[in-house]
Amino acid sequence: MSSDVLKQKIEFVKGVGPQKASLLNTEIGIYNLFDMLHYFPFRYEDRSDIKKLSEVNNENLEGVFYLQVISKRIVRKFKNKSLKVKVKDATGYGELVWVKGTEWVDDKMIVGKKYLVFGKPKLYKKTISFFHPETSEKNKTSLGIRPVYPTTEKLKRKYINTRFFNRIIDEVIRKTIPQIKENLSNGVVTKNNLISRASALQNIHLPKSKRMVEEAKKRLKFEELFFLQLQILQLKNTRLKAFPGYVFKKKKLLNNFYKKHLPFELTNAQKKVIKECYQNMCSGKQMNRLIQGDVGSGKTIVAFLCMLFVVEDNSQVAFMAPTEVLADQHFKSIQNQALKLDLNVAVLTGSTKEKERKIMLSQLKKGEIDILIGTHALIEKRVEFRRLGLVIIDEQHKFGVAQRAKLWSKKREFYPHVLVMTATPIPRTLALTLYGDLDVSVIDELPSGRKEIITSHRFDNSRLKVFNFIKKTVDLGGQVYVVYPLIEESAKKDHKDLMDGYKSLTRYFPETQIGVLHGRMKSENKEYEMKRFADGKSKILVSTTVIEVGVDVANASVIIIESAERFGLSQLHQLRGRVGRGSEQSYCILMTKYDLNNDSKERIKAMVGSSDGFKIANVDLKMRGPGNMMGTKQSGLLELRFVNLAEDYNVIKQTRVVASEVIEEDPNLNDQKNKGTKEYLKKSIKSNINWSRVS
Ligand code: ADP
Ligand code: MG
Repeated sequence: MSSDVLKQKIEFVKGVGPQKASLLNTEIGIYNLFDMLHYFPFRYEDRSDIKKLSEVNNENLEGVFYLQVISKRIVRKFKNKSLKVKVKDATGYGELVWVKGTEWVDDKMIVGKKYLVFGKPKLYKKTISFFHPETSEKNKTSLGIRPVYPTTEKLKRKYINTRFFNRIIDEVIRKTIPQIKENLSNGVVTKNNLISRASALQNIHLPKSKRMVEEAKKRLKFEELFFLQLQILQLKNTRLKAFPGYVFKKKKLLNNFYKKHLPFELTNAQKKVIKECYQNMCSGKQMNRLIQGDVGSGKTIVAFLCMLFVVEDNSQVAFMAPTEVLADQHFKSIQNQALKLDLNVAVLTGSTKEKERKIMLSQLKKGEIDILIGTHALIEKRVEFRRLGLVIIDEQHKFGVAQRAKLWSKKREFYPHVLVMTATPIPRTLALTLYGDLDVSVIDELPSGRKEIITSHRFDNSRLKVFNFIKKTVDLGGQVYVVYPLIEESAKKDHKDLMDGYKSLTRYFPETQIGVLHGRMKSENKEYEMKRFADGKSKILVSTTVIEVGVDVANASVIIIESAERFGLSQLHQLRGRVGRGSEQSYCILMTKYDLNNDSKERIKAMVGSSDGFKIANVDLKMRGPGNMMGTKQSGLLELRFVNLAEDYNVIKQTRVVASEVIEEDPNLNDQKNKGTKEYLKKSIKSNINWSRVS
C-alpha cells in the first residue's frame, strides 16, 4: 500500500488534470508523485523581507512589496486593452500594469485592499511601475523562501510555471513524505551532521528557512556522492577479487633498454608513473589505471616502457589509438625503440590490406607479434591474441565505453592489465568521481627545455598581420598549422571556409608548399599529406581538427586556429598542444570574429591566460558541467544533480572516506543499521548500466 502513494499518477493531484499531466509526462518526465518529489527547484527567491516603494531606484530591484489598491482603470488604445492599478505603501506610490488577462485581474483586485506584489519595478519619469507582477493576499505561505522550478516554453504557455508547482507541491509533499525511507544509517547521519532524507526532500520544496534550504542541499549532495562512492568501492572490491591479473616481475628488458637505448632522460614524473604501473603489474591484481598527462608530457614513452614488462614474459600488448594518423605515428615511434630490442611490432587499421591483415592475424594468434598497434580495428572479433597481457588505450575520451569493454574481454585465463592514457586533463575531483575504480597516475611535469607557448587573440581583420607572421616563421625554417572548425551541422559551409582559406594561403604564399587535410579525403591521401608535413616537405598544413589528438611534429611551432570561438575549451587546448613540442618558442593564435558572446569571450580569455591544462579543464568544467565534458550523459554513468564537480572537492573526499568506512565494517551491507542503504543502493544500481567491467 505505502509505496503505491509514490506511484500515484500526477494527473490526480488537485489542480493538474489529464491535459497538464500529459504535458508534464512528455516535456519533463513527470508521471507520478515520486517524479514530482524529485523534480527539484533550481533556485530560491527570498520573499521574507518586504520592500518599500521608496527603495525603488534605477537598479534592478526585485522583490516583494505590500501595497494597497487606490484606484484602477482600463485603458484602451486601438484594439488593445490594458489594466492600470494605482497602489501605495507608507513610503510612496506606484502602478501595476497588465495587458493580458486584464478582466481576470480586474475582478480580483479590490480597491482599498492590500496585496503582496512580487516583481521587478521600473522607475521611469518618476513613476514606479510593475509590469505583470504576481499578486496574492497575504497569508502564511505567500511570504518566505520561494522555490523556483525549471520549466519549458511549452509548459509556460499552458501555465505550468513556478506558481503552478508551488501550488501542487503541498499535496505531493503531504502524501509522499511519510513514505520516504531513510537510506543512511543513524551513525552516518549524525556523524556528518546531516538532516534526515525526509526532511531534506520536504525542505527542498517547502523550505522553512534559508538555512533549511542549505541543509537540504547539503544532505542531498552528500547522499548523491556517498552512493556513487559506495558503488565504485563495491565494484572495485569485486574486481580485485574476481579478476586476477598476470604477474609480471622480470625487468631485464626494461633495464637493458633503460641503460643502452633510452632516447632522453626521463622526467621525474615519468619515472614515478612507470614505477606505479610496474608495482601494479607485479601485484597479482589486475591493473586498471588512468595515466593523465598534459599534451606533450611524454606519455608514449611511458607506455612503451610498460610494454616491456609484458613482452619480456611472452605476453602481448594491444595499443589502441583513436585515429589512423595517430596509430601510424605511434607505430613509427614505438617501432623505432622496439627494433633496438628485436621486438616485433605491427600496425592494424581500417586501411590495412586484406592480404597483410591475414598474415598479421595468424602471427598474432601464434604469439609472433609482441606489440600490436591500431585503431578500432583491434576490437574486431577475428583479432585474436595468443596471450594478451596489457591493453593500452591512448586519448581515451575518443572511445566509447562499450569499445573499451570489448578489448577488455579479449582475455584467456587472466584479464589483461589496462592502461588508459588521456591528455584531456581531468580535474582531480572529476577523476575521483568518474574513475573512482581506476587508479590514477599523473604526469605533472613537462620535459625540460620546453618553452611556454605564447597564445594570443586576433580579430579577423588583422589577418594580414597574421599572414606576415606565418611568412616570417616559414622563412626561418619553421612550420605552421592552420586549423578550421568542421562541425556536423554546418559541414558544407565549414568545408568551403577551409578550402577558401587554403586557396588564399596558396595565393599569398605561391612559393611555399602547403598541404591540406580534412575528413573527406581518402585515408591514404590524408596520410600522404600528414607525412609530407611531418617530414618537413610542406611548410603549412591547413586542416580540420583531424590533427587534434596526439600528432607530433616537433618542428611545427605556430598554430593558427580559425573561428576559434566555435571550438570547445578542451579542444582548443588539445589543438594548442600540437605546437611547443620542440625547443623553439611556439605560438598559438586564436582568430575570431569581432562580436563574441560571453561564453566565447571567457574561453578565449582562459586560453590566452593559461597554458596549464588543469586550469583550463577546471574552467571548462565550470562552464560546461561534467556531463558534457566526458560524454557521461550518453554512457549513463552517473547523473549528479546537486554536486558541482568543480567545486565540491571536499564533499567528494568526505563521502569517499565515509563510504570506505562503511564498506570496510560491513562489506555486504548486511548489518541491520545498513538495511536502508543496501536497499537504496540496489535500486540505484539497477537503474544504472553495468559499467563494472568497462573501465
Ligand atoms: P603526449 O603525452 O602528448 O602523448 P608524447 O609522448 O607524444 O606526448 O611526447 C611528446 C614529445 O616529447 C615527443 O617528441 C617525445 O619524444 C618527447 N619526450 C617525451 N619524454 C621526454 C623527455 N623526458 N625528455 C625529452 N623529450 C621527451
Ligand atoms: Mg600522445
